[in-house]
Amino acid sequence: CGIVGYLGKREAYPIILKGLKRLEYRGYDSAGIALYDGNDIKLCKTKGKVADLEEKAKQEISTHGTLGIGHTRWATHGVPNDVNSHPHYSNSGNLVIIHNGIIENYDALKKELIKRGYTFKSDTDTEVLVNLIEDVMKKEGVKLGKAVQTALNQVIGAYAIAVFDKNKPNEIVVARLGSPLAIGIGDDEFFIASDASPFIEYTKNAIYLEDEEMAIVRRGKDVKVRKIKDDTLVAPYMQELQL
Ligand code: GLU
Repeated sequence: CGIVGYLGKREAYPIILKGLKRLEYRGYDSAGIALYDGNDIKLCKTKGKVADLEEKAKQEISTHGTLGIGHTRWATHGVPNDVNSHPHYSNSGNLVIIHNGIIENYDALKKELIKRGYTFKSDTDTEVLVNLIEDVMKKEGVKLGKAVQTALNQVIGAYAIAVFDKNKPNEIVVARLGSPLAIGIGDDEFFIASDASPFIEYTKNAIYLEDEEMAIVRRGKDVKVRKIKDDTLVAPYMQELQL
């Protein structure tokens, strides 16, 4: 299980695909990717290997775009199949998420969301989280970062997540509790990954999120790191990667 993301000036697809291959050693049963092509989200996912994803993406989607997220799944909730693979959309189709870990209280959250009119395509805990985030955005009229924070404060479990909103395609929101998450800081470009191996060839500067931290990664801006629980800003510790 691994996550990879890119936000910058280059084509995201080859960087993410290569990154997913670097993370294969972590073990997985499915792989998927979502790209923002300047207009809409293009999503492709499949049970199987990253090589299978590559084949499927070639047939099914245009792989252009400078923002994207990719995932290798180790199924915990819902069998390994195409539908349960990540990324997952929210009901509106505006948000797309990747997640490593487990949302333990997903069942109670799901029941609540169903009462509020949400529907679910997959059996995953992850699809519950992305709709919870969407619900907070709608209910409270807040932006993605704030909504992720509010949603995660209702969650019991472990996670590394990356999520973006197609209406704000200059931003990826990430968070971690119990699963690793590193942010590579390049020159006007950002990389997200479970460890630094997917981006070490592009940049030597990385921030490793600590447990219970989230970050908003914004094109042309500094990475803002916050505590999930109490909203305090954290001065991120930029580490120099050694080969
Ligand atoms: N719990 C999620 C799922 O089953 C994420 C699994 C993972 O860590 O890859 O889809």
